[in-house]
Amino acid sequence: MNIQKFTFNPFQENTYVIYHKNKCIIIDPGCYTIEEEEILQGFIEKNTLEPIKILNTHAHIDHILGNQFVAEKWNIDIFMHKYDMPILENARKTAEMYGLTQYKTSPLPKYFLDEQDIIDFEGTKLNIFFTPGHSPGHICFYNKSSNILISGDVIFKNSIGRTDLPGGDYTTLMNSITSKILCLPETTSIFCGHGDVTNIADEKKYNPFLQ
Ligand SMILES: [Zn+2]
Ligand SMILES: [Zn+2]
Repeated sequence: MNIQKFTFNPFQENTYVIYHKNKCIIIDPGCYTIEEEEILQGFIEKNTLEPIKILNTHAHIDHILGNQFVAEKWNIDIFMHKYDMPILENARKTAEMYGLTQYKTSPLPKYFLDEQDIIDFEGTKLNIFFTPGHSPGHICFYNKSSNILISGDVIFKNSIGRTDLPGGDYTTLMNSITSKILCLPETTSIFCGHGDVTNIADEKKYNPFLQ
């Protein structure tokens, strides 16, 4: 499985395209401007990839700004955890609050994901971890064979997700990090929702929030 990172929108959010054979999954499409849409589309077309799904780690506005573009462009569905539905349903108001006047309303997911679900991706598997605390329905995606975790806004290089937004809770977040993430193999690469890629060993050693 391969992974390509893009950093989009005023929040510098990381959008990931994971691909295997000629199929791809788009995780947290954050493209907001036409230029950003073209960058994403250009990568997919240049590599002759066929998008099959949109996955959202959670429904905060910076992670869903490109949902409509991607869903309509390739006629694919959105998958996320149902506990983040209130956030998604409130997204237009949130966009207005941040002055994101070009926000294109995200379609609603037809399917929900939860702990224990597995997405079979051309023979490779993505495990779903339920990791609330930053948002009530936050999930992470784990590919064991490539040793990759896509962590959304749960953990960052030397930091953790904020817990002061609606539905956030610090104790819940720390419990998610301890029970779902730090127990993964030390060499696991963590592809975060913002900032640089990191790994389990470095976060155990250097992350000031985990000492
Ligand atoms: Zn977030
Ligand atoms: Zn974010």
